[in-house]
Amino acid sequence: MAEIALLNQETIDKIAAGEVIERPSSVVKELVENSIDAGATAVTVEIKEGGISLIRITDNGSGIEKEQVSLAFLRHSTSKIRSVEDLLSVSSLGFRGEALSSISAVAQVELITKTVSDITGIRYVIEGSIEKEKEEIGAPDGTTFLVKNLFYNTPARKKFLKTPQTEAGYISALVERLALSHPDISFKLIVNNQTKLHTSGNSNPKDVIYQIYGRDITSSLIELNAKTDLFEVSGFIGKPVISRGNRNFENYFINERYIKSSLIAKSIEDAYKNFLMQHQYPFCVLYFTFDGKLLDVNVHPTKMELRFSENEGIYQTLYDCIHEKLLHRDHIKEVSLEE
Ligand code: ADP
Ligand code: MG
Repeated sequence: MAEIALLNQETIDKIAAGEVIERPSSVVKELVENSIDAGATAVTVEIKEGGISLIRITDNGSGIEKEQVSLAFLRHSTSKIRSVEDLLSVSSLGFRGEALSSISAVAQVELITKTVSDITGIRYVIEGSIEKEKEEIGAPDGTTFLVKNLFYNTPARKKFLKTPQTEAGYISALVERLALSHPDISFKLIVNNQTKLHTSGNSNPKDVIYQIYGRDITSSLIELNAKTDLFEVSGFIGKPVISRGNRNFENYFINERYIKSSLIAKSIEDAYKNFLMQHQYPFCVLYFTFDGKLLDVNVHPTKMELRFSENEGIYQTLYDCIHEKLLHRDHIKEVSLEE
């Protein structure tokens, strides 16, 4: 038997990073969520080679205080919660304090950030968890992260990435969902120097749907607004004619978070069952507001799944909301397309 020994910090960081950062789109997700948490009203995502060689995220949010920059890259460092009790009411997308440390463990990262109250900003370079440069510079308010050569020091991880086109596709899908989740933020996605998406940030979800899905879908929506004992929901469900062959068009957001819930998906799909052919799935963009006490978001490091209490009630209430809309869809005023 080999001797038992504690892993060194570099190894620990790389292992932990693997949990949060699986591929380029994970980097984009974490950094854009940070921008949203920082109160940004405009976020630009720029990628090259599917994000493998370069990801640049620019926001006009709060910026990071100079003295806090190094700290932000340590594991479990966060400005968003202070104790486990805060988790019950957490409203920010982040709270685990793992993203920046994970990204900087497996990539070359350059950060430029400035707060409104500071006159100068700071440029900070960190590679493989090792601080390389830190200098004061002139910079606009907000934060820019440049992430280069993802997994340059973890070749095994890098080997599992798909082609740049496929990775870019994951990033596009993600940015579309982030844009849908926050119609109040202007998102821009630039892939290999070409602008692929630019939303206005005018708070109108229908405009974002139009930008992403186009006219046919936008003109076939039924508006849904309901306040129930368990949750509030607003948004749009697609008329059965715009059903799709896969689940990728089921968009739902829970407390402004893009998250998977088999319970929500099943309830929506079951409500559509008698309106769709087999193997067809609904289109929807739904915004749920739940009391934080009904859910636990801290299930998984990427926070992509969540647990509910009151499963049965939530399933049935949502089913009823949607089913009723579908039954009466000819009687209700349908969504008009403003142009
Ligand atoms: P978490 O989001 O869970 O707090 P992160 O590792 O993602 O952890 O970020 C660490 C901290 O760095 C955040 O709590 C926040 O204070 C700061 N930070 C990260 N990105 C930004 C940004 N774009 N604008 C302002 N502050 C940021
Ligand atoms: Mg974060």
